Amino acid sequence: MQMPKSNFSEWYNEILEIAQVIDKRYNVKGCYVWMPFGFQIRRLVFDKLRTLLNETGHQETLFPELIPEDQLLKESEHVKGFEDEVYWVTHGGLTKLDVKLALRPTSETIIYPMFKLWVRNHADLPLKVYQIVNTFRYETKHTRPLIRDREISTFKEAHCVHANLDDAEKEMKIIQEVYSKFWDALAVPVMVVKRPEWDKFPGADYTISFDTVMPDGKTLQIATSHNLGTKFSKTFDITYEKEDGEHEYPYITCHGISGRAIAAMIAHHGDENGLVLPPEFAPIQIVIVPIVFKESKEEVMKKAEEIKEMLSGYRVVLDDRELTPGNKYYYWETKGVPIRIEIGPRDIENNQVVLVRRDTKEKRVVPLAEMREAVRSLMNEIYEYIKQKAEKEQLEKIEIVESIEHAKQLENKPVVLKARLCSEACAKQMENQLAFEFRGILVDEPADGLCIVCKKEAKHWGIFSKAY
Ligand SMILES: [Zn+2]
Repeated sequence: MQMPKSNFSEWYNEILEIAQVIDKRYNVKGCYVWMPFGFQIRRLVFDKLRTLLNETGHQETLFPELIPEDQLLKESEHVKGFEDEVYWVTHGGLTKLDVKLALRPTSETIIYPMFKLWVRNHADLPLKVYQIVNTFRYETKHTRPLIRDREISTFKEAHCVHANLDDAEKEMKIIQEVYSKFWDALAVPVMVVKRPEWDKFPGADYTISFDTVMPDGKTLQIATSHNLGTKFSKTFDITYEKEDGEHEYPYITCHGISGRAIAAMIAHHGDENGLVLPPEFAPIQIVIVPIVFKESKEEVMKKAEEIKEMLSGYRVVLDDRELTPGNKYYYWETKGVPIRIEIGPRDIENNQVVLVRRDTKEKRVVPLAEMREAVRSLMNEIYEYIKQKAEKEQLEKIEIVESIEHAKQLENKPVVLKARLCSEACAKQMENQLAFEFRGILVDEPADGLCIVCKKEAKHWGIFSKAY
């Protein structure tokens, strides 16, 4: 079966179902089921993130899900950003609760009252924790698995307390490096942008976002990092004693990545036959398909077992089901298994195996003695190939525009605009004239030349797109 990727929305829904990643049939809108195969992808991806965070001194933790109403409402700017999306628990059994409890839309107001108890003096800082939990948001826009959920089943949020602004800024850089490594491993291309004042996280001093360009030309925000300054430490009365005995409000930063990471990985690499996965995140990395005929069945199966043993250390399946090889190929292709090994009587005779790549479908005949090494290098080739392909496809969707008229001509195209800007004011002026949204300025790429709007000197590259 062929699933054309040109209709991305349909393709995306179909692939989640056929590859058995997510079942969308649960009868609460915006709540989806991770199927066993999808759950394994989720585990591999988020374990990678765990490793990267642990290596940089972040400690995993787990906080409760319920927030008393007054605690959620404490930081006014923050609550304004979430008030129309909060789910409330109002009853315990038949009894009406004295205090309404919110299901966390995010955990600042859960974690920071505890930080008040934990942070005492400068020796307690920095304090860097994270948790991987579910959160709830009553989304009114069109829901879509892993992209816009009402129960976000997978949300990694890190919350860090720092003695001063310098340390907070250092942490923003550390997280940018951690996230860059993570996206690199997933082979997902990103643009790192600083969000404009009007689009930052509610309550933050500023927000850095990682956006990726999906196959339909829309951008998807796949990670955020916020410098909250001292606003939340003041609201929740978190102070620490400095070496000189003075008390000071610490700086707080917080950093999120959700299941959208998996949506982006699937969207970038998948094709008309199903998933294509970077080998590191493929639940099954190699499938062995024996080509059996009645008279040689026993011999072929024995060799297939032998091959499986030779590949110890990889996640390998030997498909010995009573199906035609063609059916097996199709089945494992949908699941994005990076390498298929075919072994038949003629291969045994020649002391060889056939390796087939999932990404390019290319076949390679390899002497059995060289198989393990060939598999190892093929895994790297697959990763490099899909990474470069995704980067190239993303780059092709980004159009540099030199005038508003030029930008207008692209309004119905699946593209992202990149324009020279001097200020957020000019960005706003441009946004008001277009069907594109201003996403922010590129963080690591200064611009020279003239601002597209006012023609004064430009400092930044601005990104304009249609966004999920
Ligand atoms: Zn300007």
